[in-house]
Amino acid sequence: MDCIFCKILNGDIPSNKVFENDNFIAILDAFPANEGHTLVIPKKHFANIFEIDEDTLKEGYVIAKNIADAIKKAFNISDINILQNNGELAGQTVNHFHIHVIPRVKDDNVIIKSIPVNIDSDKIKNIVDNIKSNL
Ligand code: 5GP
Ligand code: ZN
Repeated sequence: MDCIFCKILNGDIPSNKVFENDNFIAILDAFPANEGHTLVIPKKHFANIFEIDEDTLKEGYVIAKNIADAIKKAFNISDINILQNNGELAGQTVNHFHIHVIPRVKDDNVIIKSIPVNIDSDKIKNIVDNIKSNL
């Protein structure tokens, strides 16, 4: 399969690995948003959060939290984004599930922001009902 992260996992593409266990690796992002930007990647190929099984998902987030703890100590910082993109519109560029751990420092170049949209109050009820009925 033509997947960059599978190639990294196979050893076909080099990476800077900070963690490995039976199910995951964590590597430095090749185009980091900040020093220490790390990707937590399951060894098994799942395209996105909708394909990954719950046990692996849980393990991935615990690993991401542990990496975040380590990054806080390593760089003597306190602020970190943990985020994960699914689909092109959401900014996913590598279709192998991964969790970003992004250390944040003052005046860095990371922009994670949205401009709020106006939604009528009766529409909000529909939105709530719509989501609830699909759970
Ligand atoms: P996405 O945009 O899919 O959420 O994140 C993909 C991430 O993979 C990006 O932050 C990008 O910089 C990183 N990336 C792309 N190619 C490589 C690579 O060959 N090696 C590593 N370590 N990271 C990569
Ligand atoms: Zn893959």
